[in-house]
Amino acid sequence: MTAHASTFYFPSPRTEKFCSQCGKALTRMVPPGDSHERDVCENCGAVHYQNPRNVVGALPVWEGKILLCLRAIEPRYNTWTLPAGFMELGETTGQGAHRETIEEAGVNIELGPLYTVIDVPHAEQVHFFYLAKVLDPALAPGEETLEARYFAPNEIPWENLSFRTVITTLEHYLRDLETGNFPIHHYSIPIPPPKQRPA
Ligand SMILES: [Zn+2]
Repeated sequence: MTAHASTFYFPSPRTEKFCSQCGKALTRMVPPGDSHERDVCENCGAVHYQNPRNVVGALPVWEGKILLCLRAIEPRYNTWTLPAGFMELGETTGQGAHRETIEEAGVNIELGPLYTVIDVPHAEQVHFFYLAKVLDPALAPGEETLEARYFAPNEIPWENLSFRTVITTLEHYLRDLETGNFPIHHYSIPIPPPKQRPA
């Protein structure tokens, strides 16, 4: 039996301490021919690159109402979000968005077109949201969700939404509802984020 921490936390800090290949302590340096500082192993030579993480999610709609999930996890516990999460290795952005929607809301959806692509450089992330059609409105929220519910456009809880990528995706959707056209929107969340608003 292996000893383990009493509580787990994630994601772990970006800076790595030890080489995953040989276990020796890492050095922060610019490798030859590179332009950025990296965690480098001077023992075995492994360069430990860090790159932005992808967050993938969906904007599921049932009879004009939008599915939101109340977060049961930090960060932003007890705030409403579109179903979304970190993309897993080996899956496409669409597969990830579909999987996250099932995990968080337990709902049967058909994924539509990619809708927002949002650069969030201060969080070292890129967020992708797909439009989605709910095929069966039955909900079975998973462990990461306190409650899942459908909101008419005029019922969206703007004061208690989780992240600016969720807020801006919903803002685009409501604006596009007026024209019936839902083109892809690509933009950045500015750095640094305004103090009052969530990242
Ligand atoms: Zn090493």
